[in-house]
Amino acid sequence: MQAVRLMEWKSDPILVEVPDPVAGPGQVVIRIGGAGACHSDIHLMHEFEPGQLPWGPPFTLGHENAGWVHQLGAGVQGLEVGQPVAVYGPWGCGACPHCLLGMENYCENVEAAPIRGGGGGLGLDGGMAELMLVPSARCLVPLPYGLEPVDAAPLTDAGLTPYHAVRRSWAKLVPGSTAVVIGVGGLGHLAVQILKATTAARVVAVDTRAEALNLAANEGADLTVEPDQSAVATIREFTGGRGADVVLDFVGSDATMALGAAASRFLGDLTIVGLGGGMFPFTFFSLPYEVSVQTTYWGSRTELVEVLDLAARGLLRPTVTTFPLEEAVHAYHLMEAGSALGRQVMVPSDAS
Ligand SMILES: [Zn+2]
Ligand SMILES: [Zn+2]
Repeated sequence: MQAVRLMEWKSDPILVEVPDPVAGPGQVVIRIGGAGACHSDIHLMHEFEPGQLPWGPPFTLGHENAGWVHQLGAGVQGLEVGQPVAVYGPWGCGACPHCLLGMENYCENVEAAPIRGGGGGLGLDGGMAELMLVPSARCLVPLPYGLEPVDAAPLTDAGLTPYHAVRRSWAKLVPGSTAVVIGVGGLGHLAVQILKATTAARVVAVDTRAEALNLAANEGADLTVEPDQSAVATIREFTGGRGADVVLDFVGSDATMALGAAASRFLGDLTIVGLGGGMFPFTFFSLPYEVSVQTTYWGSRTELVEVLDLAARGLLRPTVTTFPLEEAVHAYHLMEAGSALGRQVMVPSDAS
């Protein structure tokens, strides 16, 4: 079969022919219906040196995947060949307290996981191929009726990651509150929808690109702001001088973290999701009192079930552009140039 593989660090991936995967005991092979291209793949291609991560190339890219069950390994129960499924991407040990709660993204026994700190498309072969090996039926979530794999694929990361970040702050997103989304890309455009669908907060979207701000406005953002000199003042004015109860930073640069801190309200949440590698000087006076600052990584399996339900009911509608596998590198280049809107999803030519 064909697969889009990262062959070495600091290189573009290439399309190559590889053997079809075979499901061992307890494993499942799925036929890919869609594999999303994530900005973190670009970090993988350009920023890492050999030895920096516990895993490395060669491997097939694609860590947000959905498709149909293709082959069941010995002993797998509860799934049928042909059934549409989403892949829960963070693969933990399956047995530690966090994994038992469905939070394999925060597995505490990574030595017993299929790969240390990675997953499919992150050290192990991912979904930018015709078929993908999934290490356990535990890592598959059946799609609710009416949801197609091509739309479900981006929801497994670009939907799940912002969903978790929003959900953990639900208690602060009451009527009268304001949430700020910094970076309206693959994750950010879904963050706007998730906030509108699951909370009563007013939503402010921040991006440098006019098209991204238009997208946010179409999805219900109450205010769109360019991150210029007056951005903080604009957000403060919009909130009656109080500031934002929750800031979700999907960029994570020095500049966006400083903006998020300056726009925060007493007792708020400042949540850094983006891997921009920025720094924020934490001092007694650098944030309003009792603002909590945290990073988040991906989400839980139960949260993925909730995200898929929102999408099946039409409350989450990822903006998706599809590309054949042959054009994966082109799609990544568009993303790097900032000219990709919403999420780009690779679709193998045999997927239907
Ligand atoms: Zn990702
Ligand atoms: Zn675990």
